[in-house]
Amino acid sequence: MRFTVLGKYGPYPPEDGATSGYLLECADLKILLDCGSGTAARLQRLTALEELDAVVISHLHQDHISDLGVLNYAMQMLTKKGLRQGKLPVYLPGAPADVLAMIEGFDHMRVGVYANRLDFTGLSLTFHPVRHPVPCYAMLLHGEGRTLFYSGDTAYFEGLMELVQGANCALMDACFLGEHPEGPHLSAHQAAMVARQAGIEQLYLTHMPPYADEAAYRREAGEVFPGAQVVREMESYTV
Ligand SMILES: [Zn+2]
Repeated sequence: MRFTVLGKYGPYPPEDGATSGYLLECADLKILLDCGSGTAARLQRLTALEELDAVVISHLHQDHISDLGVLNYAMQMLTKKGLRQGKLPVYLPGAPADVLAMIEGFDHMRVGVYANRLDFTGLSLTFHPVRHPVPCYAMLLHGEGRTLFYSGDTAYFEGLMELVQGANCALMDACFLGEHPEGPHLSAHQAAMVARQAGIEQLYLTHMPPYADEAAYRREAGEVFPGAQVVREMESYTV
């Protein structure tokens, strides 16, 4: 199992950057995790869009969904050209209702609201609600004998560590710095504390603001979880 970072920024990208999006490749599947701005373009460096199997969205904030509309246009054109058959499956949370309704209007996508679990051949995902201003789900992705935890966007909460426990690696929101950040995201320190307590093999930090001093994030996390990495866009990581 491996993932490639298409975009790692939030809530908006820097020049030439992209917001949240990760291509997960596992058991011949190509699954897009989140679909922020710039990800549809970046995805094409890795795969033809007609080969995408599904999109899974952590939550309905724009920096995680804003390229769904153009991806829908792409599916429309590819279908017209005979390159793709059937609608692109998109799995997401069922709220906020107005955002969901807009996405449900994309006519070349088959939109499904997920509950606890989603199964593909060779890959299963379990969803766990986290703490964010709109419903957001962390996911555990199991495939090829490995497990990746993806936090989505979340503030720290009691019980987060238990979700991460048992994963091999974690890709975690680390928007902030500091021990007690205020806001709806984790800090590098908090992500590293959770990863250390959960006893995982590797921690990947993501979802930085475009003006972040990334060396400071790496340093802060590294003091708690040596070897913690700040992900790089268009780099692939083996789970
Ligand atoms: Zn968010």
